[in-house]
Amino acid sequence: MSAQVTPKYTLPISQRIYVVAIFKGMLITARHFFKNLFSPRSLPTIQYPEMRRAYSPRFRGLHILTEKANGEVRCTACMLCATNCPADCIHITAGEHPDPEVEKYPVEFNIDILRCAFCGMCEEACPVDAIRMGPSYELADYTREAFIYTKEALLRNGNHTISKVTR
Ligand code: SF4
Ligand code: SF4
Repeated sequence: MSAQVTPKYTLPISQRIYVVAIFKGMLITARHFFKNLFSPRSLPTIQYPEMRRAYSPRFRGLHILTEKANGEVRCTACMLCATNCPADCIHITAGEHPDPEVEKYPVEFNIDILRCAFCGMCEEACPVDAIRMGPSYELADYTREAFIYTKEALLRNGNHTISKVTR
């Protein structure tokens, strides 16, 4: 039995002459160039920071520590958020609250935002709605230390974006 020989495939002449494909590509580029030149409003570019993108209400941006109606931090330093954080970027130091009705409060509450994966597990884990992920997304600074968000900074985030939570 003789072996079957597959005939060699040769490209048609229209594909071997690349000039046609190059010309088609240049036409497409020129079409987009002139369209964008004469109607810049149709461009997807946003003129940041004058213009901001409207994100979905479900967007998970920078963290917020919420406050009670009396202005105190709502967090009870239960550590559930830190325990559930897959990036191990929440560090809390718990202290005894002077009010005997309140067991604990966070003396320090730091988030290393450069490690954060914005997964939302901390928000999900919190039993008292003390930590939320807000709509802010501006995340730029000059030093690594500036990306450790302290309790005060996280509370300030909330003051800009949400009203106080009532107990
Ligand atoms: S969003 Fe996720 S990674 Fe970031 S602090 Fe919360 S649990 Fe950790
Ligand atoms: S933010 Fe919520 S989950 Fe995290 S320590 Fe405070 S009360 Fe617990």
